[in-house]
Amino acid sequence: MSKNTEIPSPHRSGYIALIGKPNVGKSTLINALVGQKMSIVTSKPQTTRHRVLGIHSTDDYQAIFLDTPGVLEPKYKLHAAMMRNVHSAADDADVILMIVDVRDDPKDVMDLGVLKGKPVFLVINKIDLIPEKEALPLAEAYAEMYNFEGIIPISALKGANLDRLKSLFLTYLPAGPPFYPKEMISEHPVRFFVAEIIREKIFEFYSKEIPYSTQVNITVYKEREKKKDLIDAEIVVERNSQKGILIGKGGSALKRVGSAARKDIEALIDREIFLQLHVKVREGWRNHDNLLKSFGYGKQ
Ligand code: GDP
Ligand code: MG
Repeated sequence: MSKNTEIPSPHRSGYIALIGKPNVGKSTLINALVGQKMSIVTSKPQTTRHRVLGIHSTDDYQAIFLDTPGVLEPKYKLHAAMMRNVHSAADDADVILMIVDVRDDPKDVMDLGVLKGKPVFLVINKIDLIPEKEALPLAEAYAEMYNFEGIIPISALKGANLDRLKSLFLTYLPAGPPFYPKEMISEHPVRFFVAEIIREKIFEFYSKEIPYSTQVNITVYKEREKKKDLIDAEIVVERNSQKGILIGKGGSALKRVGSAARKDIEALIDREIFLQLHVKVREGWRNHDNLLKSFGYGKQ
């Protein structure tokens, strides 16, 4: 199937799932594509099945990269976890990038039969590690394993062939408005992701009612030269009872959220931070237009 590889003219938004074993270079690729150090774990607002690794927005498109969380599981569980991810990626993504290391054996490529109907590109990463003439036979060997939409050799580290990769997957994003507010990302990228990380921990540590009743706002974000950066976040809930659950006995539950979030935030920004969490009750915040607006949701 031949497709126009120009970046299309209507605004496009969509999800791109990255599938691949640990160390094939997924994070490096995301960092190179997104253009800033931001290969982080955050929840996608619509579902909690995937994590957003990074978002690449321009005036013309918004490409949201989804992670394969199972790669963090112990080795013996890896295959099963990856297969689960492949299944859910097949449901949610508009296009799938299967990343391999140039040194991998094409015979080991996982069975991608479950992806029928979804476009899958095979991305052979780290081509800087082999002589150029070896890339073609390798691509041919992969082509025999699965009916890939395309096979693209790249070097995420050296930035080789990334423009071509980008122009290929962009044509698969559906026309439509951005899923994430662009201003928010371009103006306060770190703030936005910090709030998402805290939200993610709340999803992780509490049962359903709590996460769906909370909103996280970053109220203070101070970068400090000689001291740790200071971040204050306000967790807004709807009822006093929820506040109690969030905080836990002697503050233990909230402390857990704080320390897990702090670790991820520090990994994201590569600096130490001082994180303070405050829980506030605003009755029925979900039904209030103006509150929603001030939290960045706009009118619903
Ligand atoms: P992930 O586990 O899939 O996210 O892989 P990472 O992005 O963390 O990369 C794993 C290792 O491979 C790191 O040491 C990277 O520097 C290295 N790496 C990633 N991309 C390339 C590449 O294009 N060429 C080379 N030579 N190394 C790479
Ligand atoms: Mg990684």
